[in-house]
Amino acid sequence: MEQFDIAIIGAGPGGYVSAIHAAKSGMKVALVERDKVGGACYNVGCIPSKILLEHSKLVQEIQRGNDWGIETPVVNVNFPRLMQRKNTIVQELLENIEQYIASNHITFYRGEASVAADLTVTVGQETFVAKDIILATGSKPFVPPFKGLENSSYYTTDTFFDMEELPQQLTIIGGGVIAVEMAFSLAPLGTKVTMLNHSEDILQTEEPDARPIIRKKMKNIGIELVTNFQFEQFNGNEIHTSKGIYTYENLLFATGRRPNTEIAQQLELDFDGRLIAVNKHYETSLPHIYAIGDLVGGYQLAHAASAEGIYVVDYILGAKRALVDQALIPRCVYTHPEIATFGLLEDQVHQAYTIKMPINTNPKALMEGNVEGFVKLVVTKEEGYILGACVVADGATEILNAILATKNASGTVNELANMIFPHPTVSEHIGDAAKAVFGKAIQQ
Ligand code: FAD
Repeated sequence: MEQFDIAIIGAGPGGYVSAIHAAKSGMKVALVERDKVGGACYNVGCIPSKILLEHSKLVQEIQRGNDWGIETPVVNVNFPRLMQRKNTIVQELLENIEQYIASNHITFYRGEASVAADLTVTVGQETFVAKDIILATGSKPFVPPFKGLENSSYYTTDTFFDMEELPQQLTIIGGGVIAVEMAFSLAPLGTKVTMLNHSEDILQTEEPDARPIIRKKMKNIGIELVTNFQFEQFNGNEIHTSKGIYTYENLLFATGRRPNTEIAQQLELDFDGRLIAVNKHYETSLPHIYAIGDLVGGYQLAHAASAEGIYVVDYILGAKRALVDQALIPRCVYTHPEIATFGLLEDQVHQAYTIKMPINTNPKALMEGNVEGFVKLVVTKEEGYILGACVVADGATEILNAILATKNASGTVNELANMIFPHPTVSEHIGDAAKAVFGKAIQQ
């Protein structure tokens, strides 16, 4: 039976990144994937959703150009061509991953893996053994068991990106990051979007100050948002709620995800609610079996899964390194404007100092016509340690990195305040927000 140093089950951003890191660290690696490499992120998640969002951003920019005097009489959206572009980019990225797997001499098994407690792995007719195993089997969409739903047809994010025609109408159930991003990706292209979110507000995991900005933009681009109600039942293309009946042509559920725990159940691993229970080193209740990514607690994000996988490989190899710190995992919402956050929010800390600088005075933001947003810093009162930050701006997902890099390099708000940012940039607002902590902001 072939023996490996490490076997990794699942080739999403948790699994394939762990495999490459292990191979580059000198380990003999087996990687198993039952579907396409890249996992949810590349095939039905981060990448396709962000490509659609780029298209919708471009449409909005063309419309803005018209307001400024760059006149385009008609904007025609050729949806099949947009989807073709999406498919081409995804295909190129998947081929890159396959190429990295091959060039790092990782033994790739295609098929459904099962794992035994003695660390043997079976894929179809093949069986091999590994000294350590990482479970990185990810998650799948969750659809609540609503009354009458069995007679309705609907999309989840697993099926939505295969759409060939631009839907004239789309009702989205949900109000989290994925639901809101999907609404932003289609409304500017011409789809009439209704979002039904039974709780009080959208984006409840995000910075509260960011939500009104996004709600206002949703209204501007014609998204109908319905909140604060109870679902009663589904009846054909009707959704009966405590606020009335809503009809739909197309229905998308973006109501969360559930971990793929078949292997964990076979192994009778300990669970923490629906997730696999792990310690701070991602060890499960069975020796030499680890779990990462969407299978375990913490942020369910691609870069979190990759960071956890790299940590586990280094831990197995005995490398001394810091634990994965949830406070250093950035989380991004690719709406227009974007929201980018890390660490603690204002309402999660006591004894902290919070500064918020709206970006409407920032020269670059004004030039670009993107003045809705802010830079927010949460720092300790005495030492100025950066506890958290949130940037709401066009390009916020790139801009945040200046603050994150400072924190990663053990910098405080003092270093941010003294940093020389290029002018004009939206990022220079970070410097001014940091100066504001000392009462020395220029633009205040
Ligand atoms: P997955 O990516 O789910 O990969 C798991 C892999 O394991 C899959 O390929 C699966 O086929 C395979 N597998 C499962 N069981 C077996 C088995 N028994 N044998 C062999 N293979 C198996 N995150 C971000 O960071 N940024 C974003 O912008 C973002 N946008 C998103 C948008 C959408 C619409 C969705 C749905 C998700 C988004 N996410 C985003 C979340 C991100 O996709 C996940 O957090 C990430 O993919 C988790 O990685 P993973 O490796 O844990 O699991």
